[in-house]
Amino acid sequence: MQILTNYNLSKLNTFGISAKAKFFVEIHQEADLKELFNTEEFKNNKKLFLGGGSNVLFTKDFDGLVVLNKLKGIEILKEDSKNVFIRSMGGELWHDLVILAVERGLWGVENLALIPGTVGAAPMQNIGAYGAEIKNVLENVEAFNISTGKKKIFSKEECKLGYRDSVFKNELKDQYFILAVTFKLSNIENKNITYKVLQEYLENNKIIGSKASPVGLQPRDISDAIEAIRKSKLPDPKIIGNAGSFFKNVFIKPKELEELQKTYSEMPHFDEEGITKIPAGWLIEQCRWKGRRMGNVGVHDKQALVLVNHGGATGGEVLVLANKIIADVKEKFGLELVPEVNLI
Ligand SMILES: Cc1cc2nc3c(=O)[nH]c(=O)nc-3n(C[C@H](O)[C@H](O)[C@H](O)COP(=O)(O)OP(=O)(O)OC[C@H]3O[C@@H](n4cnc5c(N)ncnc54)[C@H](O)[C@@H]3O)c2cc1C
Repeated sequence: MQILTNYNLSKLNTFGISAKAKFFVEIHQEADLKELFNTEEFKNNKKLFLGGGSNVLFTKDFDGLVVLNKLKGIEILKEDSKNVFIRSMGGELWHDLVILAVERGLWGVENLALIPGTVGAAPMQNIGAYGAEIKNVLENVEAFNISTGKKKIFSKEECKLGYRDSVFKNELKDQYFILAVTFKLSNIENKNITYKVLQEYLENNKIIGSKASPVGLQPRDISDAIEAIRKSKLPDPKIIGNAGSFFKNVFIKPKELEELQKTYSEMPHFDEEGITKIPAGWLIEQCRWKGRRMGNVGVHDKQALVLVNHGGATGGEVLVLANKIIADVKEKFGLELVPEVNLI
């Protein structure tokens, strides 16, 4: 384990923002972490744990210690006729875990294929896509308290997973390093294909419907479909810097929707347990931001929720753009957009 200084993070965040860390270290095994806890650099500086850097925006240099999580290892803890419990170290790539699961025919994470980043970051914002969230399959989270060095196992309930949210983003923010996550996957068919775009893809490609294969739908069919859909819709950070959806969708009360619909009768909305969700992408599009460019930064032309780095952008430029969008949406609709991306 070697602590480096003045380290350039541009290749470690999918926005491709050039920012420096005062101190930087990679951890490859649990022992590195214990050693790290005893160093002066760890004790005397603020810390940032980094996985794939796909949900962060560096708005300036980081005046502290960046810890890159490279802890690997996936094991099957136990298995019965219904469920398989899989424990993954936090530095594993999320998509690798999905592939491992679908290749074994296990249900539960197939809708979450191709989400960038690491397993350790996944509970932070309860990653979700295409009608699924890790909340549905998470068993527990093992994490180190970075002040005491003690390990704690958080049950699913203790993680307080919500829409792009968890206890680790709120009351326990910056207090724990997520070491490993255990998932409870299903051996028994448990498909979740009600999400419209997914269903249409499966039908149009004859993966479901009258010509469906006689052996029935497999988790791999769904993860393949999700991969194809995502590749056609989302910009690849290897080609254009971005961090996926920059903003969260907006939740309002049904009464507020009624009020807004008097002016915007076409406003799309999804109702979930007495709360109404308005797609943030639609709000941004209505403010004519889709496809617009402001110097080195812009809003993606196919996906208004995604802010992009056209090349050479600073985090500050992305932030200025984000704030302009927030202000415009507020002025037009009276609704508050909240960033999903972690601003560092
Ligand atoms: C093209 C694209 C598409 C995306 N699509 C989706 C999507 O469909 N659904 C979705 O939910 N997200 C999506 N995202 C966002 C992102 O992939 C997820 O949030 C992912 O979980 C981030 O993982 P990461 O390892 O890159 O985290 P990082 O960006 O490295 O870190 C994110 C946050 O977690 C903290 N953190 C990371 N690891 C640890 C740890 N071990 N312990 C404690 N804290 C930690 C960091 O400090 C930071 O605050 C997308 C991003 C991109 C670029």
